[in-house]
Amino acid sequence: AYRKGGYHAVRIGDPFSGGRYIAQRKLGWGQFSTVWLAYDTLTSTYVALKIQKSAQQFAQAALHEIEFLSAAADGDLDKTKCVVRLIDHFKHSGPNGQHLCMVLEFLGDSLLRLIRYNQYKGLKLNKVREICRCILTGLDYLHRELGMIHSDLKPENILLCSTIDPAKDPVRSGLTPLLEKPEGNANGGASTMNLIEKKLKRRAKRAVAKISERRVSMVTGEEASSKTEKSLDGIDMRCKVVDFGNACWADKQFAEEIQTRQYRAPEVILKSGYSFSVDMWSFGCTAFELVTGDMLFAPKDGNGYGEDEDHLALMMELLGKMPRKVCVFFCFPTVFSWFIVCFLICLFEQIAIGGAKSKDYFDRHGDLKRIRRLKYWPLDRLLIDKYKLPEAEAKEFAEFLTPILEFAPEKRPTAQQCLDHPWMNVTTQNDAENVDDQMNNLHIKG
Ligand code: ADP
Ligand code: MG
Repeated sequence: AYRKGGYHAVRIGDPFSGGRYIAQRKLGWGQFSTVWLAYDTLTSTYVALKIQKSAQQFAQAALHEIEFLSAAADGDLDKTKCVVRLIDHFKHSGPNGQHLCMVLEFLGDSLLRLIRYNQYKGLKLNKVREICRCILTGLDYLHRELGMIHSDLKPENILLCSTIDPAKDPVRSGLTPLLEKPEGNANGGASTMNLIEKKLKRRAKRAVAKISERRVSMVTGEEASSKTEKSLDGIDMRCKVVDFGNACWADKQFAEEIQTRQYRAPEVILKSGYSFSVDMWSFGCTAFELVTGDMLFAPKDGNGYGEDEDHLALMMELLGKMPRKVCVFFCFPTVFSWFIVCFLICLFEQIAIGGAKSKDYFDRHGDLKRIRRLKYWPLDRLLIDKYKLPEAEAKEFAEFLTPILEFAPEKRPTAQQCLDHPWMNVTTQNDAENVDDQMNNLHIKG
């Protein structure tokens, strides 16, 4: 990939933008870019330098991302909106061509690493709540104030705010303290996992390992093992939304197929048009993953059906049958035309779940054509039976999450409404426990 049109090779100490930024070490990489920790000599701070591949289409994508990052920064003067800040951008010429570079505020590890670090066991609900508050604050800002859809929300694209000052601790910089030094000994409970679960986890682990190989090996030299979740107590879980490479304006969309598979909303699969509520769907999937450590939906293709169909089946097993699309009718102004449409639909026995793809997957009863036997396992039962959440907590969380996972996009609550939901605003026993823990810690230290 380090060839004409590809990545720019960076060595530690390399200067950028006329010497303003000095490369320190690699933080990560994506399909289109490498991201470096750099020292900003003008402001004496550390920043993240995202260096795009040089070929025309990557430059185009970078310009796109800069447009959205700039808009987000312009509206967030007091820096409270939980969205990564673009500080600067410039072009850099190298042997492989000209690279667009973005200078971003320096953040810590992604939620994906946090989940992995916690051994896919899920975080305590009070931690999840703190994280959700940040994500929702970011989404509310993007949606309501900017009219922007992120369209690739997922744990990997939410980064914790780094609490390490690279100036004081350049080696560990970029790693939040909670990820510093995992303790030994193997995890328990593996024997009780069933095969499918194991397989899923292995797959997820591989995916994570791929993304963060470099950084993990720098810290631990091995996979994070059985550090208990207790160690997260007392740590402030602030985070920010990053990666605006796929963002779009609600009134000016570019792509029909958006979002990463597991976080993709049903209306995107069915190609029935989308809006802000696709981010809410992804948010719901992310919140579930934070609580349980497992992806909510991990579809795969099978004998006689594709990934899309498996995905729809998984959704229906959790959330019930998809409603025949009522919202089609709403665009007709009078009751009369409503009847006409109903009549026509009955006449042609058309189904009904909206999008261009619906007829490929559903029969006229709204059942999937190729996946027939579904096992309904509603969210609250899943949380109780499989993930062993206490019944009351499971019910409360399910009450919060279920409306977010509405099939009909217009019925999903907005980010603002979620922020006002009782679940976001309770002080639970956990919070009290947390205070206890902190007291105990103090006691032990004392
Ligand atoms: P791409 O669009 O190529 O996927 P991303 O913006 O997702 O690139 O960044 C790739 C990786 O670089 C991220 O997963 C993360 O590890 C790291 N990274 C990106 N932005 C920052 C930042 N502001 N601070 C620290 N690390 C970052
Ligand atoms: Mg990315």
